[in-house]
Amino acid sequence: MTQADIGLIGLGVMGENLALNIADNGYKVAVYNRTASKVDAFLESAGDLAGNVMGSGDLAAFVGMLKAPRSVIVMVKAGEPVDAVIAELRPLLEKGDVIIDAGNANYHDTVRRFAELDGSGIGFLGIGVSGGEEGARHGPSIMVGGSQAEWKNAEAVLTAISAKFDGEPCCAYLGTGGAGHFVKTIHNGIEYADMQMIAEIYGVMRDGLGMSASECAKVFNDWNAGPLDSYLIEITGHVLDAVDEASGQPLVDIILDSAGQKGTGRWSAIEALNMGVSATTIEGAVAARSISSMKTERIEGEKLYGAAAKGKATISLETLEKALLAGKIAAYAQGFAVMAKASEENGWNLPLDVIAKIWRAGCIIRSRFLDQISQSFASGTAANLLTQPAFVELMKECNGALRAVVATCAVNEMPAPCLSSALAYFDAYRQANGTTNLTQGQRDFFGAHGFKRIDREGDFHHKWPSLVAK
Ligand code: NAP
Repeated sequence: MTQADIGLIGLGVMGENLALNIADNGYKVAVYNRTASKVDAFLESAGDLAGNVMGSGDLAAFVGMLKAPRSVIVMVKAGEPVDAVIAELRPLLEKGDVIIDAGNANYHDTVRRFAELDGSGIGFLGIGVSGGEEGARHGPSIMVGGSQAEWKNAEAVLTAISAKFDGEPCCAYLGTGGAGHFVKTIHNGIEYADMQMIAEIYGVMRDGLGMSASECAKVFNDWNAGPLDSYLIEITGHVLDAVDEASGQPLVDIILDSAGQKGTGRWSAIEALNMGVSATTIEGAVAARSISSMKTERIEGEKLYGAAAKGKATISLETLEKALLAGKIAAYAQGFAVMAKASEENGWNLPLDVIAKIWRAGCIIRSRFLDQISQSFASGTAANLLTQPAFVELMKECNGALRAVVATCAVNEMPAPCLSSALAYFDAYRQANGTTNLTQGQRDFFGAHGFKRIDREGDFHHKWPSLVAK
């Protein structure tokens, strides 16, 4: 048998599907897994694709199956397992080969691994792969960062297996070091915010307007044919429409309201905070999942303060749709602003228009909306999305709806952490004369931190009265 075009280590859900996707695209793929029986099972189940797959439960034999220069995708559990695999693999590779970590790595780990391999002649790529199991099998969005020279080894295969939007591949090299995994992290942060805002709008429908799950489903299905058209809106309709076989109830009504999180949303918020970029809507989404997990305390809280009145809101579905669009623009503006700042700090030169392009298909936040974002960044500067002409028009049209929904939530005691933070971000972004002049005065009072003046250049300090008790 001829040698494989690419190797893949880790036959978990993602690895297995990526390997089948590679084989389906006409490339030969060799596989290896720590538990060797999974390799045999994979090869036996390959069916029509058997001619394009090979593998071994022995790592050296697996490496021997690869065409040089070798490309090896590592798709194992993120964290220490990735370091363990790299340590075993490294002595078996040669100059010009490349290791590709395709898991959900913390980008700081990617930066470290990249540095550890730097100078060895073996390249290292950290690639963000989005789209879950189905994306891995039929076309994910692939965000590439790391060794640019060795990227050439794997470019044809990874481009071929990626999702396509209007024929264009959703795969691109974005920058050196941890750029790919950083962009994937922010993708997930935006995903958290997008999902939470959808949940808040569903809350207004359910609690404020007293709508049933199937009535809500119909609205989301209709919205999917308009400006909110996206994978997340589409699956929302399906989730709300599903019926539990055992009880005959809408499935959503019997799913516990306690959301899990694996870390990428939190990492997005942490990176934004560390760089001093405002990403309040992403932070709000992470916090919303955290408070959702405090079910017992929330039950006690409702006993203490009473339940919010239900079915008392008066707001139109059209207003809800526009509010969601406005909130979404603010959340995406924050995510792109975080990436712009990280690009500057790390010298990545991240192409924001290309990032929006490769998110148009394959990934969880895929939507037509990203096509608009891509066009805006391609034609303008890399400034905040809120300053891009197409989005200025949309925000002018929709911010009133966002304001109305946030006010409705406040009056009717419905939490809307993401929608309200999106509105606050927008209002702060367009307020020329803010209120931190007072904050600066306070800081100078207690810490002599100094302040700048609006009428003169330089740093100033005021002689404040002493409040020490006499
Ligand atoms: P997973 O459950 O995270 O990992 C399973 C694979 O990791 C198995 O092949 C397992 O080998 C291997 N593994 C675990 N510890 C190992 C170690 N110490 N040394 C060597 N191999 C080890 O699988 P997954 O869900 O397919 O995810 C893979 C990666 O993709 C993760 O980083 C995940 O976060 C990321 N990801 C997942 C999704 C998703 O929807 N699931 C989406 C995007 C990205 P054994 O069979 O021997 O245990």
